[in-house]
Amino acid sequence: MRLKSYTCGRWLEGEGEGKPLHSAVTGEVVAEINSRGIDFAAMLRYGREVGGPALRQLTFHERAIKLKELGLYLQERKEEFYALSRETGATRSDSWIDIEGGTGTLFAYSSKGRRELPNGHVYIDGQPEILSRKGSFVGQHIHVPLEGVAIHINAFNFPCWGMLEKLAPTFIAGVPCIIKPASQTAYLTELMVQRIIESGILPEGSLQLICGSVGDLLDHVTCQDAVTFTGSATTGLMLRQHPAIINNSVRFTMEADSLNASILGPDAEPGSEEFDLYVKEVMREMTVKCGQKCTAIRRAIVPRPLAPFVIDALRARLGRVVVGDPDAEGVTMGALASSDQCVEVRQRVAELARSCEIVHGDPDESLQGKGAFMNPVLLYCDRPLESSEVHDVEAFGPVSTVVPYDDVAQAIQIANLGQGSLVSSIFTYDEAFAREMVRGIGAWHGRLLINNRDSARESTGHGSPLPYLIHGGPGRAGGGQEMGGIRGVLHYMQCVALQGSPSMLSAVSDKWIPGARRIESEVHPFRKSIEELQIGDSIVTGQRVVTLEDIEHFAEFSGDRFYAHMDEEAARANPFFEGRVAHGYFIVSAAAGLFVDPAPGPVLANYGLENLRFLTPLNPGDSIQVTFTCKQKVPRVNEDYGEVRWDCQVKNQNGDMVATYDVLTLVAKKARR
Ligand code: NAP
Repeated sequence: MRLKSYTCGRWLEGEGEGKPLHSAVTGEVVAEINSRGIDFAAMLRYGREVGGPALRQLTFHERAIKLKELGLYLQERKEEFYALSRETGATRSDSWIDIEGGTGTLFAYSSKGRRELPNGHVYIDGQPEILSRKGSFVGQHIHVPLEGVAIHINAFNFPCWGMLEKLAPTFIAGVPCIIKPASQTAYLTELMVQRIIESGILPEGSLQLICGSVGDLLDHVTCQDAVTFTGSATTGLMLRQHPAIINNSVRFTMEADSLNASILGPDAEPGSEEFDLYVKEVMREMTVKCGQKCTAIRRAIVPRPLAPFVIDALRARLGRVVVGDPDAEGVTMGALASSDQCVEVRQRVAELARSCEIVHGDPDESLQGKGAFMNPVLLYCDRPLESSEVHDVEAFGPVSTVVPYDDVAQAIQIANLGQGSLVSSIFTYDEAFAREMVRGIGAWHGRLLINNRDSARESTGHGSPLPYLIHGGPGRAGGGQEMGGIRGVLHYMQCVALQGSPSMLSAVSDKWIPGARRIESEVHPFRKSIEELQIGDSIVTGQRVVTLEDIEHFAEFSGDRFYAHMDEEAARANPFFEGRVAHGYFIVSAAAGLFVDPAPGPVLANYGLENLRFLTPLNPGDSIQVTFTCKQKVPRVNEDYGEVRWDCQVKNQNGDMVATYDVLTLVAKKARR
C-alpha cells in the first residue's frame, strides 16, 4: 500500500520509492510512505483560499453540527480502523483510546460549541469595559478566526486521537488544517482521512493530509497560520526555531516528553484502598499502549517505608502481564510501534540503570518473532536527589521507576525535578497532604489528578487527557496548551479589543451592550419570533409600588423570614439597611409580573437567570420599574426554536438601579400562526 497525501482537493502519491513501514506485530511491510513532489506552498494557499472562506461562511453552531455528523460517520466505520490499528501493536482497548477517544473528542467539541458559543461568527469574550465617564465610549474583547491554516504535526502513538483532538477545536474556530501524522503509524491516519473526505461532511479545503516529510511547508507560514507539534523535545525545539516561525510570530504550540509522576500519600498504607488503587494505576499506565503515552507514569513517588510494599505489589501484577499479538487470546499488552522504538526504549532503560536498579523484567529478553515486543520493566531509584537520569530520561515504553521520598517537602522537590510535566497524580485520602502537594507542585504541571476511594470508580484515570480540560504542561512538557474546552478553540482565533460607542459595538458583535440604542416598538417583544426580534428591541414597563404587605405576604408564602425583611430594629442594626427591605427574590418575581406578556406566543419557556445582582435596597413604599431589552439571539440549527437573552434592569422611583440580570428564554424561530 502506497500512502497518499490529500492535497489541494486530490489524493497524491509521492514520487519515486517510498520508505517501508513495518507492522509492529509481524514485522512485515504494511505500507510505503513518501511525500516527494508535493507542492507544499500550494497546500497552504489552497487552505487559505478554499478551506478558510468556506469555513468562515458557517456559524460556530453549523460547524459544531458537522463535527457531530463526522463523529457518527466514523463511529459507524470503526471496525475498519480497529482492524488496521492492530498493526501499530495496539490491543483492542489501546485502540479504543485512539479511535473512540478521538470520535468522543469530536462529540465533546460539538456539544461545547453549541452550548458555549453563539450561533454566529464572532465570539464575545467577557463583559464590555466602560472607558468613559458618560458611557459613550466602551471596549469589548472579541475573537475572530485566523485567516490562515493550522499545521498539526503529530506523534506516532495516537494516529487517530492525535489528529481528531486537534482537528476539533481548529474546525470549530473556522480554520482549515493540514495534518502531518508521524510516518510510523500514518497508514491508520490516512485511512481515517480517506473516510472523512469520502463522507463529504467537511467543506473542501478544511482538511488536508501529508503522509511523509513536510518538505518546505514551514518556509511559507505567515502570522495567520498556527503550528502545533506533538513529539520529542529535540524535534520540537528545532521546529520552534524555524526562521519563518520566529520572523512571522507564528503561533507555535508544543507538546513534548514528560517525566510524569504519581505520588502515593503517607496515609495510603498497604491494605488501604488508596494503596491498591495506586498500584493498579501505575501498572495500567505502564502497560496501556505498551507505555507509549505522553502522560504515562514514569516516576512512582512513594513514602520510603512503603517502597518495598509497592514494588512487591507491582511485581505481582506485572508478572501476570501477557505480551504478544494483540489479536491473540489472553494477551494483555501489545507491541511497541516499531522495532526501532524497541531499540530506543532499551537504550533508555540502560541509561536509567546507571542510577536505578531493575527490580522487575528483563529489557533485553527477546520475545516472539519479528514483532516489536518488550517486557514491562520496573526500576527502583534509591537516591533520587543524586540521580539525574530518573528525572531526565524518558523511556517511551512499558517502563516506570519507583522513587522513595522521606517527607512531604521532598516529595514536592522530587516531583518538580521533572522540570515541568503534563500530569501528575496524587493518591491519598488525607486532604491536608493533597493541599500541600497541590500548592507545592501546581506551578510545574498542566494537570493534577487527586484520586482516592471517593472518586476512583468514576475517575477517568491518570493518563487520559480530556477535551474539557487543558492538555499540556510547562517547561520540559513543551509549554503548550491544547483542548480545555473553548480555550482550545480560541488558540486558532485572533483576540481583538474593539473600542467604540455602545451602539456601534452592539451592531458589529450582534450582542446588545448597556448604553446602546434601544428600539421601543408598539409590539411587546414577547410577541415576536426570533426571526422578527431585533437586538435592542425593548420595553419600559409601568411602575409598581412595593408595600409592607407585599413583603410580609412574600415571607409567609415562601417561608423566607430573614430578619432584614421582618424585624425593623434588627434591619436597622445591619450596616446596609435603614429598615425593613423587600426580598431580592420578590423583586425578581415582581419584575417578571411587570415585563411578562402572558398570552401564548413565540416565547416558549424561561430557562434561567444569569449575572443577578441586587444593588439598591428597596424599602416599603418604594416603587420599581423594568427596562427589558433583547440582548442576544441564538437560533438553534436543527430545531425550530433558539435561545434569547434579555437584559433586565430594575430601577426605583429615583432612577437608582435596584437589580440587574440577564433573563434566558427559549423562543420559536418563526411566528406560530
Ligand atoms: P518525533 O520524532 O519528534 O516526531 C514527531 C513528529 O514530528 C512526527 O510527525 C515526525 O514526522 C515529525 N518530524 C520529525 N522531524 C521533523 C522535521 N524536521 N520537520 C517537521 N516534522 C518533523 O517524536 P516521536 O518519536 O514520533 O514521538 C515520541 C515522543 O513524542 C515522545 O517523546 C513523547 O513523549 C512525545 N509525545 C508527546 C505527547 C504530548 O502530548 N505531549 C504526545 C505523544 C507523544 P516523521 O514521523 O515523519 O519523522
